[in-house]
Amino acid sequence: MDGIHNHADPQYWAKLQLVADTLKGIQGPIVVVSHVDPDGDAIGSSLGLARALKALGKQVTWIAKVPRYLSFLVREGEASPPIEHLPEGTTLVVVDAAEPSRVEGAPVEGFVINLDHHGTNPRFGNLAVVDPSKAATCQIVKELIDLLGVPWTPELATVVLTGLITDTGNFRFSNTTPELLCTAADLIAHGVPYAELTDRLQWRPPEYFISLAKVLSTIQFHFGGLVVTAHMPPGDYEDDSDDYVGQIRYAEGSQLAVFLRQRGEDVKVSLRSRGGVSAQAIAVKLGGGGHVPAAGATLRGMTLEQAYPKVLAAVEEELRRSGYLEPARAAKAADGR
Ligand code: 5GP
Ligand code: MN
Repeated sequence: MDGIHNHADPQYWAKLQLVADTLKGIQGPIVVVSHVDPDGDAIGSSLGLARALKALGKQVTWIAKVPRYLSFLVREGEASPPIEHLPEGTTLVVVDAAEPSRVEGAPVEGFVINLDHHGTNPRFGNLAVVDPSKAATCQIVKELIDLLGVPWTPELATVVLTGLITDTGNFRFSNTTPELLCTAADLIAHGVPYAELTDRLQWRPPEYFISLAKVLSTIQFHFGGLVVTAHMPPGDYEDDSDDYVGQIRYAEGSQLAVFLRQRGEDVKVSLRSRGGVSAQAIAVKLGGGGHVPAAGATLRGMTLEQAYPKVLAAVEEELRRSGYLEPARAAKAADGR
């Protein structure tokens, strides 16, 4: 498939060292941003890097719209509001953003450093370190902070560990490698209150649970149970779509979970897959991107009713490609083997 590179980057360390040297040499302002709908990895990697650069004495602005369930990680006044123009001579550091159009908070202009782990990232910017073999952008940021030589504090380690926890689904997804667990252990050893952190990351307000009940009432099974879909009733609680798709993906026998929600004129689609089905391939067909097992897209100018058949057509194509529409394989999947 065009534009997707899911393998490790052989020049990873050389490029990361270049980023470290470049950041150390910067005298002017640095702005750190991440992607729209920021998740734990977006907040953790951008805030972690911003804190580390501040510790080096740099003039840093961290721009983020922090979702409520992550706000406990952020100090009062630490996040700045979005800006439309970057001051002259600014270095823009973009983390965890799969493409320029997903960057939130500042225009992608001037000298741009792009740190990410999405295979669909077009490697935009003046310096790009994109390594899809990393489970989280926080893994890249951890290694960058080590290269920068910034001393670890519990506060710094906590935000960086957050991205490792959330992007691996609490160390359960297939991206949970021995290397990643070593990185996590390293961070925990710097004084992270681990049990407290994982507990806090699961807290949701009462409205979330009321919405969840409504979302679950929209559940449908397709292709003999290979695919499970659900949607958010328009205008309901919005914070983390990952939570909702994360619930339905455990339907036994399913290889793909799809969650849709109306957002103004558009429909946001979240996809999670397993067993040789590529959520990424479906997202790319729908004009989005992401990782093989977790991806997303935004369908512009559409209602939920119009989006469902479009999404299911792309899903069917991917099920066909991965062999799941052949009777023998479908029966095996339904059996959970
Ligand atoms: P989520 O479903 O949690 O919003 O996103 C899952 C993954 O796909 C994330 O890694 C996210 O960055 C990526 N993703 C979600 N929506 C889009 C999109 O519209 N375009 C691209 N390129 N990636 C997306
Ligand atoms: Mn990420």
